Amino acid sequence: MTRSTPAQFLPGVGPSRALRLEKLGLRTAGDLLFCFPRNYEFPAPPERIDRIREGQPVSLVGTIVDAELVSRSPGKSVFGAVVQNDTGAVRILFFNQPFRAEQLTFDRQVMISGEPKLNGLRFEFVHPKVTFLDEEDEIESPKILPIYPLTDGVKQNEMRRIISAVVEQLAPDLTEVLPVELRDRATELVRDVGIDLRQPLPDIETAMKHIHWPPDKDQLRAARSRLAFQELLVMQLAMAIRRRRLTTNLQSSSMPSDPLLDARITNRFPFELTGDQVAAIKEISRDMARQFPMNRLLQGDVGSGKTVVAIYAMMLAVGHGNQAVLMAPTEVLARQHYQTLSRILDCSRVRVGLLCGSLGAAEKREVLRHTASGEIDLLVGTQALLHGLEFKSLGLCVIDEQHKFGVGQRVRLRGGGIDPHYLVMSATPIPRSVAMTIFGDTDLTTIKEKPPGRGVVKTYLGRDEWRRRWWEFVRGQLKEGRQAFVVAPRVSASQDTTASSDEASEDVSSVETIFDQLRDDVFAGYNVGLLHGRLSAEEKTQIMQQFSEGEIDVLVSTTVIEVGIDVPNATVMTIMGAERFGLAQLHQLRGRVSRGNHTGHVCVFTDGNQSPEENERLKVFESTNDGFELAEADFKMRGPGEIFSSKQSGMPSMMIADVIEDLDLLQAARTMAQEMVDEDPELESESLADLKKQLMRRYERQLDLSDVA
Ligand code: ADP
Ligand code: MG
Repeated sequence: MTRSTPAQFLPGVGPSRALRLEKLGLRTAGDLLFCFPRNYEFPAPPERIDRIREGQPVSLVGTIVDAELVSRSPGKSVFGAVVQNDTGAVRILFFNQPFRAEQLTFDRQVMISGEPKLNGLRFEFVHPKVTFLDEEDEIESPKILPIYPLTDGVKQNEMRRIISAVVEQLAPDLTEVLPVELRDRATELVRDVGIDLRQPLPDIETAMKHIHWPPDKDQLRAARSRLAFQELLVMQLAMAIRRRRLTTNLQSSSMPSDPLLDARITNRFPFELTGDQVAAIKEISRDMARQFPMNRLLQGDVGSGKTVVAIYAMMLAVGHGNQAVLMAPTEVLARQHYQTLSRILDCSRVRVGLLCGSLGAAEKREVLRHTASGEIDLLVGTQALLHGLEFKSLGLCVIDEQHKFGVGQRVRLRGGGIDPHYLVMSATPIPRSVAMTIFGDTDLTTIKEKPPGRGVVKTYLGRDEWRRRWWEFVRGQLKEGRQAFVVAPRVSASQDTTASSDEASEDVSSVETIFDQLRDDVFAGYNVGLLHGRLSAEEKTQIMQQFSEGEIDVLVSTTVIEVGIDVPNATVMTIMGAERFGLAQLHQLRGRVSRGNHTGHVCVFTDGNQSPEENERLKVFESTNDGFELAEADFKMRGPGEIFSSKQSGMPSMMIADVIEDLDLLQAARTMAQEMVDEDPELESESLADLKKQLMRRYERQLDLSDVA
C-alpha cells in the first residue's frame, strides 16, 4: 500500500464502497490517512451513585458486597448482586446466566455500565456491561473512539476499520518534516502560549496514529497540537519568507520625518491629533524612513480618523520630493478625499490631482501627463483607473477602504524605478488571527481611540407599528437643522454584504419607490435627494455636494454612501430592509451619523415577516457600538469562511487547524516562523529540506514565492 493506492484496493473497501467513499472526496489511501476524525467518543467517567438518575446510562465503580443465584426451574435462573462504593449501592441482575455467580464473587472490584431503573429504594441494572478492575490483564480502560465523517452506506464501524488499516500501514512511512530540535522548540512555544501539553509534541508517526486512535486525552491533545502547529507553521513560514523578500529585496526611497517637516505637516491640520493617530504616524514614519517598502495595514473603526494619518504620510512623501497616490473604492469617496486634501493644502506648493471615471477624455489625458511628468504631487483616484499608471517618482501608495483582502491581491504600482511604500486602510476590523493569516506579510496598526467630541450613536430596532413615530422623530431632527439618511438595500441575487464598490447590482427600483413615497408624504416640504449607483458620476457628485452643503435635507440612498462619506451635520439614519445587510456593512452605515458632535440616531426596519428583534444579527448590532466587538460576533455567527472565502480572500484552507479557534497555536507558529527565517532566510539548511518542499508545494503559487530571486 502507498498513499496513492486507490481506495477500492484497500482492505475492507472494494468497488462499491469505494464509490461511496468518493462522495466524501476519499479516493486514495492517502486521502483516508488524512481524513481526520471530526470528533471523538469519550468514555463516560464513573458516576457517583447518589447522582444517578433513572433511565440515564452511566458507568460506576464499586465492590461486590452481596451475591445470590436463584434457580427457579431448570434453565431458568436469576443472579443478583449488590455493588457498593462510598456514594451508595446498586443492584445488578442477570437472567439465565448462572456463570455470573462464579465471576461476580464477594469483594471483587468492578465497573458496570448500563441504564439504571428504580426498584423500590434502590437502582437496578439489568444485564449491565461489566469490567473487572482487579484482574491485571483485563484492566483495559475504555478507549476513546474516533468519529469520522460518513456517507450513505458506510457505517462508522466500517470507516474506523478501513482507516485504521491505512494508518497502520502508512503512518510509519510519513516524512518527518520537523526534526527533533524544531519539535522541542515548538513544544516550548506552544506551552508558552498557554496550551497544557503534558508531553512534548510527538513525531509525525505517533501524531498520526494518535489523532486517529488516541490512547488518552493528553496524547490526543499533543497529537492534534503537533499536526495543527505544523500546518500553521508552514503557512507562517511562507508568509515570513514572502514578507522578507517584499522588504529586503525591494528598493524604496527613505523618507524620514524630522521635527521641521513634522511641524509643517501637522500645522495644516485643523485639529489636534489623537494619541492613537500620533502613534500610528510614528509607526508609519519609521517604516517610511527605511529603504525598503512599508507594507502596513491601518485599521480603525469608522470615524476614527484614518484619513489624516494617510495625509500625513502622503505629505511626508511629497516633502521628500516624491509623489503619492491615494486610491479610493468609489468616485464619491475619491472626490471627497480630493476636497479634503485640497482644503488642507490650500495656498501650498503641493499640487493635487484627481483621476476618476467622470472626467472628460481631455482632462484625463492631462492628469495622466502631469502624473508622468511629476507636475502632480498627490494624485487621488478610483482604484480601477490607476492600473498601469505612470509616475515620475512614486514614493507612497495609500489604499483606502480596502475590502478585498488577501496577500498577492493588492495592486502593485511602480514608478520611477523605485518601489513605493504601501499603506492600506480598512474600517472593517478583523480579528487578530485573521490579520495574522491573510495579512501575514503585513504590519498592523490599529486605531482604537475616536477623536474627541464625537457624538454617541443610539441604535433602535424599529417595529413596524413605530414607523409613524420614527418619521416624526426624524422630522423633529430636521426642524432643528440636522440632516438625515434613508438607506435601502440592493436586492439583486448577486448582492453580497461585505463588498461595496460593486454598484451595478443595486435594485434601483426599491430606492426609487421609497424616495417617491417619502418625498410626497413623510418629508413633503423638505428637500429630498436620491443617490444610487446608476446615476452618472456627475449626478452623484452633484447630489453629494448638495447634501454636504446642506441644500438637501434627506438623502435616500443605496449603500453608495456606505464608504467613508463624511457629513457631520447628518445625524439620523433610517435603514430599510436591514435584514439584508451584513453586520460590517450596517456598522459602516452607522458610522455616517457619528461624525459631528450631535448625538446620532439609527433605526433599522426589516422588510420581511421577521421583526428586527427576531434577527440575531440586528440584535448584536443594537447591542454594541464597537466595531471590533461586532467583527468578532460576526465571525462567531458566520464563520470566517463566509466573510473571507478562501478563494476571494486568499485565506488558506486548513486541514486540521482552525485559524479562529487555534489563535494560540497560530501565535506560536508565527513566532517560530520568524525565528527560523531570521536565522535562515530561505530555509536552505539540509535539515529543513523536507519542510521547505512541503511549503513550496502548498504555497508557491498562492504566495508567488517562485518569481523572486
Ligand atoms: P475614517 O477613519 O472612518 O476614515 P475620517 O478620517 O474620515 O474617518 O475622520 C472622520 C472625521 O473625524 C473627519 O471629519 C475628520 O476631519 C475628523 N477628525 C479626524 N481626526 C480628528 C481629530 N484628531 N480631532 C478632531 N476631528 C478629527
Ligand atoms: Mg475613511
